[in-house]
Amino acid sequence: MKFHLEIVTPEHLVYSDDIDVLTVPTVQGEISILAKHVPLVTMINPGEIIIKKNNEIEYMAISGGFVQVIPNKVIILADAAERAEEIDLERAEQARERAQRLMEEKRGDKISHAEAMAAFQRALVRIKVARRKTKK
Ligand code: ATP
Repeated sequence: MKFHLEIVTPEHLVYSDDIDVLTVPTVQGEISILAKHVPLVTMINPGEIIIKKNNEIEYMAISGGFVQVIPNKVIILADAAERAEEIDLERAEQARERAQRLMEEKRGDKISHAEAMAAFQRALVRIKVARRKTKK
């Protein structure tokens, strides 16, 4: 039995389809959602989303946001989300190096350091998800 998944960012509707299983990295840990899941709203951590539809598996990078489960529908509101094929690996590697340098430089500045850590995290997720596409 399928349910409808929508993934929306401030820029566009990234995903809209009927799917079988969604795995999403929430702040309480990774959860897998099937049709008829209990209603739920929770925050998402930066991480990997896994979408199963028929016999296909799709991987996406998500940089944080919210997931809402309502009857027969799941809505993800994300800061940013990219399908594995859309990720520019070189850009993510450059972002990781830049963030690493900033984390070193901004040790004394809590806010800048936290921003650099968040950027580092986003880049690591993108690198992991981008590499998935070559493994399929
Ligand atoms: P960068 O420093 O490379 O811009 P960032 O983590 O600051 O990375 P975000 O602010 O999370 O980027 O995202 C800004 C926009 O760029 C979003 O639309 C996001 O989907 C897209 N984006 C960011 N990094 C990549 C990437 N490596 N490949 C494809 N799209 C990306």
